[in-house]
Amino acid sequence: MKEPLTLDELRASLAHVAGSDFGMREPRWLSRFGNETRLADTYRQGRVLLAGDAAHMHYPAGGQGLNVGLQDALNLGWKLAAVPREGAPDTRLDSYHHERHRVGQALLRNTEAQSALMGFTPETLALRELMNGLLRNPTVNRPLAEHLGGLDVAYPDAPVPSPLQALPPLPGWTGRRLPNWDLRLSDGSPRPLYSALHRGHWPWLHAKAGPQAPTRWEPAPGWTPRLEVLELDISDDATPLHGLGGLLIRPDGHAAWAWAAGR
Ligand SMILES: Cc1cc2nc3c(=O)[nH]c(=O)nc-3n(C[C@H](O)[C@H](O)[C@H](O)COP(=O)(O)OP(=O)(O)OC[C@H]3O[C@@H](n4cnc5c(N)ncnc54)[C@H](O)[C@@H]3O)c2cc1C
Repeated sequence: MKEPLTLDELRASLAHVAGSDFGMREPRWLSRFGNETRLADTYRQGRVLLAGDAAHMHYPAGGQGLNVGLQDALNLGWKLAAVPREGAPDTRLDSYHHERHRVGQALLRNTEAQSALMGFTPETLALRELMNGLLRNPTVNRPLAEHLGGLDVAYPDAPVPSPLQALPPLPGWTGRRLPNWDLRLSDGSPRPLYSALHRGHWPWLHAKAGPQAPTRWEPAPGWTPRLEVLELDISDDATPLHGLGGLLIRPDGHAAWAWAAGR
């Protein structure tokens, strides 16, 4: 491990990079960080589960580490509760690795790409200028912003929660992360979607005429999670749920299953 950072070292470094130390003085806190890029081979080994920086280390470009670590925890938390409390199969914990490891891989790739833009050689400065121009285009900027914010994370390969196969899925919905929609219940009252996640249940959103939630639901034999049933008014064309018959949502806010209206 390297020695703690001193003000003299920081001054010398800044003078080297920027040509001046800008008269820095009286630091409150000095810390050094490196450019390690490492990913655990597996996020689960029996009873040991890795999340956050224990699972992925990288250059802090783009301010993503904490965010991705929290999303690891959100993915893992409901599964950790479901196995001992609700009788979910132990393999459900393996899905934590399957769903989050590839997010860690993408995180490392994009921080490495950003590190390539950090130098001060003429080539790097030219590349940065080029990127600056490209990023003024919203078509380029938006997907990158969604990626850095973790908003584009989806788990399309998530196992089908039986017995929902009877309701043919709408393409593109399974595993998608859902925003905090302002829902309107069938009695006219408003309800933000995320409030339905507070108790760790699975929200079952359905149109008045759509399939009702089962009274007892077993996504796998012996596993009986709780549903949070919300009957919605989706008559308004502007509602994000327009055209949907219903939606089952995982406790981490990702869609488990969506089916079309009229089913
Ligand atoms: C300069 C810099 C800027 C950053 N900026 C951002 C940003 O803007 N946005 C963002 O999302 N992320 C950012 N990050 C990344 C973010 O700080 C980390 O990803 C995040 O703090 C990791 O959280 P963690 O809980 O996984 O690990 P840590 O924060 O490292 O927490 C692990 C804890 O475990 C404790 N511990 C270790 N060993 C033991 C032990 N044996 N027993 C008990 N306790 C132990 C440690 O003391 C520590 O408190 C930045 C990182 C750096 C270096």
